[in-house]
Amino acid sequence: MRHFAIVGSGPAGFYTAEALAKAYGDQAHVDIIDRYAVPYGLIRFGVAPDHQSLKAVSKRYDKVAETEGVGFIGNVTLGQDVSVAELLDLYDAVILATGAPHDRKLGIPGEDLPGVVGSAEFVGWYNGHPDFADLDPPLDGAEVAVIGNGNVALDCARILSKTRPEFDGSDIVNHAIDALDGSAVKTVTILGRRGPHQIAMTPKELGELGHLDASSPVVDGADFPPLEADEALEPGHRKSITILREFAATAPDPAKPRRMVFDFFAKPVAIEGDGKAERIIVERTELDDSGAARGTGQTYAVPATLVVSSIGYSTPPMDGVPYDERGGKFRNDGGKIADRLYAVGWARRGPSGTIGTNRPDGYEVAELIAAAMPGGSDGEKVGAKGLRALLDLRSVEPTNFDDWRRIEESETGNARPGSPREKFVRVADWLGALGR
Ligand code: NAP
Repeated sequence: MRHFAIVGSGPAGFYTAEALAKAYGDQAHVDIIDRYAVPYGLIRFGVAPDHQSLKAVSKRYDKVAETEGVGFIGNVTLGQDVSVAELLDLYDAVILATGAPHDRKLGIPGEDLPGVVGSAEFVGWYNGHPDFADLDPPLDGAEVAVIGNGNVALDCARILSKTRPEFDGSDIVNHAIDALDGSAVKTVTILGRRGPHQIAMTPKELGELGHLDASSPVVDGADFPPLEADEALEPGHRKSITILREFAATAPDPAKPRRMVFDFFAKPVAIEGDGKAERIIVERTELDDSGAARGTGQTYAVPATLVVSSIGYSTPPMDGVPYDERGGKFRNDGGKIADRLYAVGWARRGPSGTIGTNRPDGYEVAELIAAAMPGGSDGEKVGAKGLRALLDLRSVEPTNFDDWRRIEESETGNARPGSPREKFVRVADWLGALGR
């Protein structure tokens, strides 16, 4: 019997577990270990609450968790309750699927002022992540800025612009929907350091902005290159640019009180304010020959009492695991970090791609492992049994998938009408739902 430990129960962790279970059949036991008693990582804490169809993929992960030979061990933090070296002692291979939960820093003056938050924090707040339940972002000002031109920036801008009824059917947590309902926000400015052609936003997500109840997109047609330049673009990307051009050609709806302003060629250089964020100083840019943003020296101020920096994520380093500082991920070669130690998903590739990208990623690493460690050969590792004994010595009480089902039942029972669940936002409440 082989024993595998996958650390992290987001998409990358589950696809890898699925692949290992398929590759080894009854000759391996796969444990999915998570810091929390609740599984699914990015699906629960990252994917926007008003994008429920994307979250439906968790049903597939449930099937994996219920597969013979696959176990879920929750409430166990790697690096705190157990080390990588200890897991390697207990398991034939350890696969890090820990994602990229930290915000990249802007590296500009003023970014630590109150009122400046990272998208991981802001998204975590509205998605009920226990680390960010108390974020309390200031929503009492009329002007908000979101920095970055990716899909996460769009998620943040959209959530800030929606009205309460537009969250019907979502699982946005109560503290967030109440705060957003009382928000004074009128203008959300999305700052892109490059131009419309350089956005990393996809058509579906952009298209939604044209149908918001209370907010109209505002795009300056002068920011675009000539229309012919769109022809060279990849079709999906071209579609996004076409949507932006449509926004530019349409006057904002006077009946809608809010605006979502796309400010292109705008590189943040400082955040200023009297003890808290009040404005961002941006420098006008132009594209250099390589397509990078080059400052023009011309600066101006964009008022913002809340600044959401959405410029990408990184994987936190882990003791004893080689780390790629620049890429913000574990140093690895095609998923292999070291002998018997692997990385999958964002911890392997960095924070890019869709949920589905993690499927081939996980299968590829499972193949690597299967080639290095054929099933049926003598394994000396004890796996979960040894881990439980170690955790017991440390008074750590792990949870299993049935425990999650009980938590889920409570969350479903607490849901607002029409909502799939009301998430518990405290670790103590998850454990409380289990009578601990
Ligand atoms: P992303 O797609 O990499 O976008 C990051 C953005 O930040 C880019 O526009 C980048 O501009 C900008 N940026 C980076 N450093 C900056 C700086 N110092 N100053 C100003 N701007 C800066 O990252 P993401 O939005 O966090 O998304 C992560 C992944 O999740 C992506 O693959 C995304 O598609 C995916 N995602 C998908 C969905 C969905 O399918 N619905 C939803 C959310 C996220 P440059 O291009 O100039 O570097």
